[in-house]
Amino acid sequence: MIRCVLFDLEGTLVDFQWKLEEAEAELRRAAAGVLGCGPERFAGLNYAGIWKAAMEAGAPGLRARVEQTLEPIYDRYDLDAATRWTLQPGASSVLTRLQALGVPTGLVTNVGRRSVAHIVTRLGIDGRFGVVVTRNDVPRMKPAPEGIHKALAALGATAAEALMVGDSLSDIGAARAAGCRVAIVLGGESTEAAIRAARPDLVLTDLREVVGSLCEPLERRKAGRPEGQS
Ligand SMILES: [Mg+2]
Repeated sequence: MIRCVLFDLEGTLVDFQWKLEEAEAELRRAAAGVLGCGPERFAGLNYAGIWKAAMEAGAPGLRARVEQTLEPIYDRYDLDAATRWTLQPGASSVLTRLQALGVPTGLVTNVGRRSVAHIVTRLGIDGRFGVVVTRNDVPRMKPAPEGIHKALAALGATAAEALMVGDSLSDIGAARAAGCRVAIVLGGESTEAAIRAARPDLVLTDLREVVGSLCEPLERRKAGRPEGQS
């Protein structure tokens, strides 16, 4: 049974606005500059993969330089996206409903702390999460499971009790690596074909479907009514 819900931010609670291709090209060039190689070394890797590969490529002494070089690039693209982010339909009501049910919720995002703090306040969803884990709080971004592990530890929940709600293959990868179930809302970072091929536990076309597929069954259980009885 699901007792805890973790949400991704961009593409899930807010619309997807990151200038992905431009940011990834800049990150490849910058990482190659620090490591003294060509950007083709990072070909085919997304923004999270570039970070991981760059951090693992050099001697430990180089990691601080990789961090100092790449961090401002991620922050700049986050802040740019933040100027356009709007809350997805139903995001606020889904969070309110889960809160009313006493279901612990967390935010696990590859967006950095600066933009997350700013955006959750601007959109009025601050205080809705029991824990917020950003890119800056873990050594590796999703699809690595560290962010989910950290959120679950803070919420006192196990992976078996948790559902990760996201929009990307990174969310599926992180949830699987952490051992929790995963629901994907279509229309975000990853294409529908890629999402369906990766077979998440649940595919949603709209975040508001979380109410029917999760909140209502939980409300019925709470009221002691069997499934299917309204
Ligand atoms: Mg996302």
